[in-house]
Amino acid sequence: MGLLAYLPGDRCVYHAHGRCLMELGENARRHKKWRCRIVSAWERAFDDYLLQVDQFDIAPETAARIWSRRLEKIVDRPRCVHFVPGGDDTVGCALVFEDLCLKKIPACPGRCRRYREDRDADL
Ligand code: SF4
Ligand code: SF4
Repeated sequence: MGLLAYLPGDRCVYHAHGRCLMELGENARRHKKWRCRIVSAWERAFDDYLLQVDQFDIAPETAARIWSRRLEKIVDRPRCVHFVPGGDDTVGCALVFEDLCLKKIPACPGRCRRYREDRDADL
């Protein structure tokens, strides 16, 4: 490996917290694969809820109450086994990055041939 392989990649547009997001733009399935499992669980629960509201023609006030009760249960559930306390208030895991899990995203090994400098980084 040449010297370039060892230069840091942290100024690359694809770089995020030591991880490489480059494949995200090229392969939409990556997005699904890398998603935080807690975010995915919440979304599934919300989709189920919407389906029920639609099917049973529930009044908006009742629907809001049902969702708020359901949300309490979801938030109280045992978390992901890799959960690291910290990060934003929503998921509360230090490894969540937007709706993705940093643990699932490949690490940036350093400046590679796909490196693209983020020229806005210093602005
Ligand atoms: S480790 Fe954190 S970010 Fe990753 S799936 Fe688990 S809760 Fe989500
Ligand atoms: S330098 Fe290469 S491996 Fe690192 S974030 Fe950029 S594209 Fe990905």
